[in-house]
Amino acid sequence: MAEPKRFVMDCRLNPSAKCSLTLAGTEQEVLDLAEYHVIHKHGFHKAPQLREQLKSFLKEELLVR
Ligand SMILES: [Zn+2]
Repeated sequence: MAEPKRFVMDCRLNPSAKCSLTLAGTEQEVLDLAEYHVIHKHGFHKAPQLREQLKSFLKEELLVR
Protein backbone atom coordinates (compact mmCIF):
# COMPACT_ATOMS: atom_id res chain seq x y z
CA MET A 1 0.00 0.00 0.00
CA ALA A 2 1.91 2.97 -1.22
CA GLU A 3 0.65 6.23 0.11
CA PRO A 4 2.05 9.32 -1.49
CA LYS A 5 5.14 10.46 0.33
CA ARG A 6 4.71 13.61 2.29
CA PHE A 7 7.42 16.17 2.58
CA VAL A 8 7.83 18.87 5.18
CA MET A 9 9.44 22.23 4.84
CA ASP A 10 10.11 23.80 8.21
CA CYS A 11 10.84 27.49 7.88
CA ARG A 12 12.56 27.46 11.27
CA LEU A 13 15.48 25.73 9.54
CA ASN A 14 16.11 28.96 7.70
CA PRO A 15 17.90 30.94 10.41
CA SER A 16 17.53 34.29 8.71
CA ALA A 17 13.76 33.99 8.33
CA LYS A 18 12.65 34.04 11.98
CA CYS A 19 9.53 32.23 10.91
CA SER A 20 7.68 29.29 12.46
CA LEU A 21 5.77 28.07 9.43
CA THR A 22 5.77 24.40 8.52
CA LEU A 23 4.37 23.16 5.24
CA ALA A 24 3.55 19.53 4.60
CA GLY A 25 2.25 17.75 1.53
CA THR A 26 3.48 16.11 -1.60
CA GLU A 27 6.79 17.40 -2.90
CA GLN A 28 4.98 19.35 -5.60
CA GLU A 29 2.48 20.92 -3.18
CA VAL A 30 5.15 21.91 -0.72
CA LEU A 31 7.39 23.39 -3.38
CA ASP A 32 4.55 25.45 -4.85
CA LEU A 33 3.54 26.87 -1.48
CA ALA A 34 7.08 27.26 -0.21
CA GLU A 35 8.01 29.24 -3.31
CA TYR A 36 5.02 31.53 -2.81
CA HIS A 37 5.74 31.85 0.90
CA VAL A 38 9.41 32.79 0.69
CA ILE A 39 8.80 35.24 -2.15
CA HIS A 40 5.95 37.04 -0.37
CA LYS A 41 7.08 36.75 3.23
CA HIS A 42 10.85 36.66 3.04
CA GLY A 43 11.59 38.82 0.03
CA PHE A 44 13.18 36.07 -2.06
CA HIS A 45 13.29 36.70 -5.78
CA LYS A 46 11.64 34.33 -8.18
CA ALA A 47 14.41 32.52 -9.97
CA PRO A 48 14.86 29.16 -11.66
CA GLN A 49 17.21 27.99 -8.93
CA LEU A 50 14.85 28.99 -6.10
CA ARG A 51 12.91 25.72 -6.27
CA GLU A 52 16.16 23.79 -6.20
CA GLN A 53 17.19 25.67 -3.06
CA LEU A 54 13.81 24.97 -1.48
CA LYS A 55 14.11 21.29 -2.35
CA SER A 56 17.20 21.11 -0.19
CA PHE A 57 15.05 22.20 2.77
CA LEU A 58 12.47 19.46 2.26
CA LYS A 59 12.47 16.53 4.61
CA GLU A 60 10.48 13.41 4.10
CA GLU A 61 7.81 13.19 6.74
CA LEU A 62 7.95 10.16 8.98
CA LEU A 63 4.46 8.92 9.54
CA VAL A 64 3.77 8.04 13.14
CA ARG A 65 0.57 6.18 13.85
ZN1 LIG B 1 8.75 31.48 6.48
